[in-house]
Amino acid sequence: MSGEKLRAFHRRSIEDREGFWAEQAALVDWQRPWDAVLDYSRPPFARWFAGGLTNLCHNAVDRHLAARRHQPALVFVSTETGAEKSYTYGELHAEVNRVAAMMQSLGVTRGDRVLVYMPMIPEAAFAMLACARIGAIHSVVFGGFAAHSLATRIDDARPKLVVSADAGMRAGKVVPYKHLLDEAIDLCAAKPAHVLLFDRGLDPGFPRCAPRDVDWQTLGARHAGAAVPVEWLESNEPSYILYTSGTTGRPKGVQRDTGGYAVALAASMRHIYCGAAGDTMFTTSDIGWVVGHSYIVYGPLLAGMTTIFYEGTPIRPDPGIWWSLVERHGVNVMFSAPTAIRVLKKQDPAFVTRHDLSSLRHLFLAGEPLDEPTHRWISDLLGKPVIDHYWQTETGWPMLTAMPGVEPTPVKFGSPAFPAYGYDLRLLRESDASEAGADEKAVVAVVPPLPPGCLSTVWGDDERFVKTYFSMFRDRQVYSSFDWGIRDAEGYHTILGRTDDVINVAGHRLGTREIEEAVQAHAAVAEVAVVGVADALKGQMPLAFAVLKNPAVAATPQARAALEKEVMATVDGQLGAIGRPARVHFVTLLPKTRSGKLLRRSIQALAEGRDPGDLTTLEDPAALDQIRAATAAPRA
Ligand code: ATP
Ligand code: MG
Repeated sequence: MSGEKLRAFHRRSIEDREGFWAEQAALVDWQRPWDAVLDYSRPPFARWFAGGLTNLCHNAVDRHLAARRHQPALVFVSTETGAEKSYTYGELHAEVNRVAAMMQSLGVTRGDRVLVYMPMIPEAAFAMLACARIGAIHSVVFGGFAAHSLATRIDDARPKLVVSADAGMRAGKVVPYKHLLDEAIDLCAAKPAHVLLFDRGLDPGFPRCAPRDVDWQTLGARHAGAAVPVEWLESNEPSYILYTSGTTGRPKGVQRDTGGYAVALAASMRHIYCGAAGDTMFTTSDIGWVVGHSYIVYGPLLAGMTTIFYEGTPIRPDPGIWWSLVERHGVNVMFSAPTAIRVLKKQDPAFVTRHDLSSLRHLFLAGEPLDEPTHRWISDLLGKPVIDHYWQTETGWPMLTAMPGVEPTPVKFGSPAFPAYGYDLRLLRESDASEAGADEKAVVAVVPPLPPGCLSTVWGDDERFVKTYFSMFRDRQVYSSFDWGIRDAEGYHTILGRTDDVINVAGHRLGTREIEEAVQAHAAVAEVAVVGVADALKGQMPLAFAVLKNPAVAATPQARAALEKEVMATVDGQLGAIGRPARVHFVTLLPKTRSGKLLRRSIQALAEGRDPGDLTTLEDPAALDQIRAATAAPRA
């Protein structure tokens, strides 16, 4: 029976946890074996491979030199500057050694933090790997974050060194980094000793502060040919700190270990992504996000693959750019986000289909709910399995996913399928943490210990780790994802939105995702955001903000009113009148974070006439103006 093998694999990962992970751990090199596969003496803190010594950089780079010195490890493509450069494993090894020596010359040693505030250039990956090599803890902050957000992160991580560049580039415009960085450091209580600056020549007049600022190219010339031995770390020593996106509030410093992370990623490359040594992976994210850490840098390199390192937008020079890269570089595994597919949906499908995509085996999508019509559309267009998978910055790798490397299973559109091995994932009732039945909406939770690769704690704040993640239920210490989920009779899961994105209409609790899915069933809608706004009579009322595939169909007030009625009727048919939005506003842009997540809390605040709150992760402020204008307009 289909799925039998997968179920047995998952069962064993829970029932014989230590045996299972000991086997997976053979996918990476250990300088010294562990004393215990799992030390769980202080729940909910899990220490994987306790006592074992390993190193992420060794496993991602050095280990492959014997067999793949001349194979491309990292292929850099920038559609912003036109740069293209490929680094073999041998060249990557040399670059990383050089940067490691540069960092050491600036006094960086094991356990020190290094904040990386860089555009998508290869030097950013060299810096991350160099930190891993010498046992320094990197904290990558998404380039282009405003000074205030950057300052908060500097103060929290207290880095000895900041690595940055003069500027980034986005959609053809120069985005100065150095000015912002200086502004941020001015705001900081704990100032870094040095700033290592890579000058791309994009912002000739950028400010330099001697003696703090050090020129990358000058220092690099002094360390050409350097050989820096790897620092063997105990498996539980931190490899990095990464702050969550901040969609729901103050970002949390997710702390990741070393050995557990290496094993989790290596296992996921095999069982989930089906990526083998010599294959090519293209992940269209940014190193500032967890997807970039796990699947642009560490995952593919741990597996001996070639990773495509892309700077640019999905639509320049035209919306076919990513697919042309798949063709040109023979990409086998691709990982992107639903938001990018929705952008594509508004374009001519020929941008995809005119390319030879025969090398591609799977397309993986994560980060936001993938609605059923979009999932179906991209699957039909590609004629390949499109795998929606669900995870979080906290977990570092997928929690819900198909696992074609274990056993291929049929794709159900709109569903990220099954719990990944290692996760004792449950759907628990909010009221008393009891297990929900099939088709019953509940909280997505994981019974600890969390598997290898997940956060070990919140940086510098063990108490916040326990309080934030393990205290949702009074009588049961389980990890809460703060997402709603539902499981059908066949075991397929669907994410219904975040637990704080619930709309309470006259006592009925509806997930925003459920209503969004219903709105999206209307053929004219490309994407939509639904929020609940206060209503004197019903408690809350859903409001929808929809982006149309073709805005021309709602050009006149009459056409808009007619379309609004149609969309409401669609929701009635899909979900029932209880979920019908009070209004459907048509906009051309939705407020999203720079990682492509809808900022529902800001939309809701504006719709209720409140302050939209912290907007530092907002992609395009014009989107908020549209929400403001739409909700301020008198009823048609
Ligand atoms: P913060 O925790 O600071 O509010 P964030 O939750 O947006 O930020 P991430 O860790 O980047 O930060 O995002 C993880 C969240 O993204 C998940 O908890 C879930 O809400 C959503 N998500 C990710 N993948 C999927 C998916 N495949 N389907 C549905 N939702 C998803
Ligand atoms: Mg979150």
